[in-house]
Amino acid sequence: MPYRPSAPGPLGLVEAFLRTRNEITDAAGLGRWCAEHGLAGDASAGTYERAMRLREALRSLMLANNGGPAAPEALTLVNGEIGACGLRPEIAEDGLRWPARGLLGTVLGGVVAAMAAGTWPRMKACAADDCSYAFYDHTRNRSGRWCDVSGCGANARMRAYRQRRETSPGAP
Ligand SMILES: [Zn+2]
Repeated sequence: MPYRPSAPGPLGLVEAFLRTRNEITDAAGLGRWCAEHGLAGDASAGTYERAMRLREALRSLMLANNGGPAAPEALTLVNGEIGACGLRPEIAEDGLRWPARGLLGTVLGGVVAAMAAGTWPRMKACAADDCSYAFYDHTRNRSGRWCDVSGCGANARMRAYRQRRETSPGAP
C-alpha cells in the first residue's frame, strides 16, 4: 500500500488516472471512472484506446522524472493529444486556467498546469520494474524513488544487498 499523500492540485486527478490499471480495462470501465470523477465525455472504444495510450505515455514521462530513460515517443504522443484536445490557456481573474472537455483534456490540463507551476518533476512512476505505480514525491530534496519505501523500496534494497554479496563472496 502506498504511504505517500496524494499529489496536490490538478495533479491529483492525473495521479488517480495513472492508478487505474485494474479499474479501467475497457470502455465501460472508462465511462464509470469518468462519471465517478465528474468528467463528461464519451466512453467509446476509440476514446478508451486513446486514454490508455495517453496513460502509458504519461507513465513513461513519470519514469523519466524518476531517473528513467528519456521518452521521446511519449512526448510526441502527449503533444499530439494536447493538439487533438484543443488545449489552450485562458487567462481568468484568478490566474491561468486550462479549460478542457472530457477526460483526456482534463488530465493533460493538469499536466500542463503542473509544468507551469514547477511541480511536474515530482510526479513520478515507481522505479521498481514490476510496479511503475504513480506517486507524488513530497521529499524535500526530491529523492523519492519508490511508491512505498517499506514495499518496493525494501525489495530494491534487498536485491542490491544480495547482488553485492554475489559479486564479492568474501564480504560478510
Ligand atoms: Zn512500487
